[in-house]
Amino acid sequence: MKKIVKTCSSIQSAIYLAPNEIRTCCQRYFRDKKLCGDVVLFKTNDINAEKILDSIIKAKKSLISKINNDDVDDPCTGCHSLEVSEFEQPQKQILINHISIETDTTCNMRCVYCSPIYYGGNKSNYDPIQLIEEMDKKGFLDKSVVIHWGGGEPTIGEDFENRLNRLTKIVNIKSIRFFTNSTKNSKGISNWLKNDKAQITTSIDAGSEETFRKVRGLRGIQRVLSNLENYKKLINNPQKITIKYIFNKYNCKNEDIKLFIENLVKYDLSSLPLQISIDFKIEKPSIEIYKAALNLYNQHIKISKKFNAFFDDHFLHAISRILKKGSKDKTYSSLLDLEIVKIINEFAENHEWVIWGTGSFAKYLFSESYISTIKKPLALISDDPFKEESKDFNIKDSSFIKNHKKKIFICLGSVSYRNQIIKKIKAANISEDHIANIPFI
Ligand code: SF4
Ligand code: SF4
Repeated sequence: MKKIVKTCSSIQSAIYLAPNEIRTCCQRYFRDKKLCGDVVLFKTNDINAEKILDSIIKAKKSLISKINNDDVDDPCTGCHSLEVSEFEQPQKQILINHISIETDTTCNMRCVYCSPIYYGGNKSNYDPIQLIEEMDKKGFLDKSVVIHWGGGEPTIGEDFENRLNRLTKIVNIKSIRFFTNSTKNSKGISNWLKNDKAQITTSIDAGSEETFRKVRGLRGIQRVLSNLENYKKLINNPQKITIKYIFNKYNCKNEDIKLFIENLVKYDLSSLPLQISIDFKIEKPSIEIYKAALNLYNQHIKISKKFNAFFDDHFLHAISRILKKGSKDKTYSSLLDLEIVKIINEFAENHEWVIWGTGSFAKYLFSESYISTIKKPLALISDDPFKEESKDFNIKDSSFIKNHKKKIFICLGSVSYRNQIIKKIKAANISEDHIANIPFI
């Protein structure tokens, strides 16, 4: 008999492997002003993979029971990821499709925005690959598993190449995203890239060697760029490697932006997506940081000749808030003269646009972004046959774009799923030149 059960996709299908604990999600949210989430299933110093897997399944089942019995210890009350679903046996449907490996916090860098949680040198007693092998053997892996491998710096972690090689034997693994500083050229990562089953995210954060050393605590910017150049030669799709620039007080000078852009051209990295972020410890970014970030965005459009840079959520909200405050704000006035802000204003005043997507980020852009205060988008677009009906958002399918008399520009309504959205736009037979080449803030 089917049962109505409250649960979430992370409980049913994700696992986060830390040095001495196993978590079931990376969701953070506030409940009564208290930060909640990042739910820990249990602490462990155990070495035995079979025993740990057994504990994972028991802990997930126990969490589902707590949630459904309104237990006072339930760590999930108020989380927006909780969903009510119909299950034959929810506990039996635990099938892992997302695994995060962060079991070794060794790193050869000391980035100013990092902390000993990531470079402190803790290592798990258990072997994470053995645990994944055990999940495979016992039928707990879903058909298509995605692994995120960070740490620390994964490539210098214990037995990395051998461990990576063992994962090639698990057929259900669809892809691995490596969060690497690329100081080391890894043979294993190269092989996974060649087989079209890997993605990389690497932060550069500087233009000059001097700034690189200040921000990353180590010399070697040219080595990192050269390793990325070699990785890029192995891929057909540039979207497989993401470069990051995390702003802080050391790396926002014009000279750094100029040299960073020159390096991207020199090492043939200009076609790769660029994620622009900020040190999350900075509560109030300075005018210099805002200017540098917007300038970087502008320069990147010029070298990549397309919309291929994006701000992370945190930074995007901050910039949008400043621009919306209007001319009374000192920071706003000093941003007005920037070429990119003029381009955004000109675009909004003269073009019609829609947002592709119906998730929370798309809805934020629709109703709260700076650009939507200049001109409202015409609609949110989704070709999902089960898309929601909404009074607050005008939701249409892709024929709306094709049948409109004037050209409509598209804004991608998600940072995490931007590649999937581009695929959907192509699948709908809409040319990529409809995607607007400006930051939507
Ligand atoms: S309901 Fe929320 S807090 Fe609880 S495990 Fe799922 S994502 Fe994490
Ligand atoms: S490279 Fe990554 S893990 Fe190492 S210090 Fe920098 S941010 Fe932390």
